[in-house]
Order: sequence, then C-alpha cells, then structure tokens
Amino acid sequence: MQPSESAPDAYREIRELARTVARERYAPKAAAWDAARTRFPKQERAYLGELGFLGIALPERYGGSGSPLIEALVVIEELAKECRPAAFQAFEANTGPAQVVNLLGTEQQRERYLPSIVKGERTMAVAISEPDAGSAATDMTTRAKLSANGTYTLNGTKRWISNGGEAEIYLVYTRLSDEPGSKGIGALIVEADRPGVSFGAQERLMGFRGIPSADVIFDDVEVPEENLLIGAGGFRRLFSAFSIERLGNSTMSLAIGQAALDRTIEYVQQRMQFGKPLIEFQSVQMTLADMVMDVEAARQLLYRAARNAGTGLPNPLEVSLAKTTANEMAKRVTDLAMQLHGGNGYTEEYGIERLHRDSHGWALAGGTPTMQRIRIVSELLGRGFDQRR
Ligand SMILES: Cc1cc2nc3c(=O)[nH]c(=O)nc-3n(C[C@H](O)[C@H](O)[C@H](O)COP(=O)(O)OP(=O)(O)OC[C@H]3O[C@@H](n4cnc5c(N)ncnc54)[C@H](O)[C@@H]3O)c2cc1C
Repeated sequence: MQPSESAPDAYREIRELARTVARERYAPKAAAWDAARTRFPKQERAYLGELGFLGIALPERYGGSGSPLIEALVVIEELAKECRPAAFQAFEANTGPAQVVNLLGTEQQRERYLPSIVKGERTMAVAISEPDAGSAATDMTTRAKLSANGTYTLNGTKRWISNGGEAEIYLVYTRLSDEPGSKGIGALIVEADRPGVSFGAQERLMGFRGIPSADVIFDDVEVPEENLLIGAGGFRRLFSAFSIERLGNSTMSLAIGQAALDRTIEYVQQRMQFGKPLIEFQSVQMTLADMVMDVEAARQLLYRAARNAGTGLPNPLEVSLAKTTANEMAKRVTDLAMQLHGGNGYTEEYGIERLHRDSHGWALAGGTPTMQRIRIVSELLGRGFDQRR
C-alpha cells in the first residue's frame, strides 16, 4: 500500500479501473513492445478513448469528462506503472498539446480537433525543440510567413518530437514575426497530411521505446490562418499552458519510482541470502526507507500542484518543484531498485532496467531539472535570470 493511499482516495474508482486495465491488458505486452520498439497500436489508443481516459480533463462538450486535472494524473500514473506508451496517450490528450488547444484555442479549433482526440481517432504531438534550440527554446528558427491570401508558409526542422511520424496533428511553436527572442514566437496547428510535412528516421532512444520519436520537417508547408493558435508575443501564455504537461511528466516519473519501489518491496522479502530474506539486513531497510521517502516527497509535491490547479492552470513554482523532485527521484529510486535486485535487476526479465531507462527520458523531456532549478529560483525571487548575459 502507498502511504498516501491510507487517506480516503476521492479517485479510487477510476484508479482501480486504470490499474486493472494496466495490469491485465498492458503489463503482459509492455516488455515485448519495449524490446521490439513496437509503436503503441492505434486500436489500443481508440480503446483508451472508449474508456474515457483521453478526455478526463477536457470539457464535456467535446466528449470529455470536464474533471479536475488530478483525476487524469491518477489514470496516467496507474497506466505508467505498467506501460509508459499506454500512459503516454492519456498524457498527450489530457496534459499535452490538446489541453493547450483547449485552453488557448478558438472555439472553432476546439470543435475541429478535440472530439477526435478524446475518442482516440487522432492524436496531437507538440513540436518545440530544434537541433540548435533545446533548453534555449527561444533560439528556434522555424518560421511561418503570412502571405496576402491569408495562408502561412512554414519552414523548419523540429527535433526529438515524441510521437513524431505517428501523430496526425502537431502543435508547432514557430517564429511568426521578425521580432527577436520570445517576442516573435507563437504557435500553429499543423496536420501531418499537409504537403511538405515529412519525418526523419525514428530515433533509437535509450528508453521511451514504444513512443516513437523523430524529426518533423516543414518544407514550404501551407497552413491556413484559421490554424493559428496564438500569434507572435504569445510565448509566455504558451508556456503557462505547457506547465500542465510538466505535471503529466512528473506523474510519469512518480509512476516509475512507485513501480520500482513496489517491485523492490516484494523482492527483498522473497530473496534469501545468508539464510534469511534480504529485508532482514538493516542496510536494506535503510535503503528501502530512503526510496519510500523519496517517492512520497515527489507524490506530495505533485498532488499539491495538481490540487491547487483544479481545472485551471497550475502555479509555476509548484510545477517546477514537482517536476525536478519527481524526475530526480525516479532516476535515484530505479537505480537503488536495480542495486537491491542484484543481478536480476540488470536483466530485462524483472523490468527494473526498463524503468531506469525511461526515468532518464522523462527528466530530459519538458525541460531538464537544471532548467527547472533556474525557474524555481526565478519564481521564488520574482525576477528573471538572463542566461545570455
Ligand atoms: C525522451 C525525450 C522526449 C522529448 N519529447 C519532446 C517533444 O515531444 N517535443 C519537443 O519539442 N521536445 C521534446 N524533447 C526535447 C527536450 O525538450 C529537450 O531535449 C530538452 O529541453 C533539453 O534540450 P537539449 O536536448 O537540446 O539539451 P541542451 O539544451 O543542449 O542541454 C544540455 C545540458 O546543458 C544544460 N544546460 C543548458 N542550458 C543551461 C543553462 N543555461 N544553465 C545550466 N545548464 C544548462 C541542460 O540542463 C543539459 O543538462 C524530448 C526529449 C527527450 C529526450
């Protein structure tokens, strides 16, 4: 039992449903999908849509449930404990770019994209990073020019795009004016089947297998003006909405840490050395206690940020505290889990190495812990720190 589950859980019913789906439907397949780098099947995405998992935090008028964000996070956590590619579908729809469209888009855009995303018929990926613009996102050079006929022409290359080549729609952060830095940046919604959209080779990532990753290339792609989500100067608003994705990301890390801890608790009670179970050794108890403290601290920071957000935007300081803590916790706890599993932890069979590989990916995605630390101090002191001077 998780310590925080000893308190009444308002989301017990949906947590139980997600846990059952994760254990019975995805756990038996997750290791093989990871080993073969199999993309999460589209029919499974539709199944998650049928269950209502892709619209928990999206409004009812688009087919969602209109529930608080924390309910979506509970589902993401349960799926992610067994199968991150399954959880990724709920993450993208509830906390990712679809949520940004919900919060910042026009009514016409919400009606055009959200119902099919909630059903799992289509999915939307976010394209911010570029080969020369990672942490320094405002160095991006992807550019959209508006012509007299009311069409944008989009050119540029986006890198590390999760679900790149798989998603049917992309939320593309791009320069929309000649103003330097963040001032010239806004976002366009771009369908994958527009002429001029192409994809690079699939990346062979250390983890995140089952979630495709590729460059997304825009070569004179014509995008109608009605696909403009937010114009130049909207960068701050875009990143405020993106903070919800960071809570989804923190949830992935929490799930990874919790899963590693749960498996370790079982293992150290069964594995015998020197004639007794590992748990009888005091240093094993100390290590286990450290793991529990680490996971629980991340859970409380995440839940605080999510609870305070309700159905709106989270507090940026609370988000960065949650993300940094959860990301680093997952790396540490999976490492300790591997240690306590001995040689077995180093095999694919026990699933610990898969958790460890994925923990590193979630720490990089959505802004590194180092960049989150800068944000933490910035929010705390109410001032910016210019990284260029
Ligand atoms: C698994 C995975 C999934 C991803 N999914 C997406 C996606 O769907 N869409 C998308 O747009 N992007 C995605 N990304 C990209 C991700 O957002 C970037 O990798 C991340 O922001 C870091 O950028 P970078 O890789 O260019 O590293 P860099 O920015 O080059 O950073 C390298 C190192 O330098 C440090 N560093 C950089 N600047 C500073 C500074 N000012 N002070 C101190 N240290 C600094 C960083 O913390 C890091 O440790 C994904 C990445 C991964 C690995």
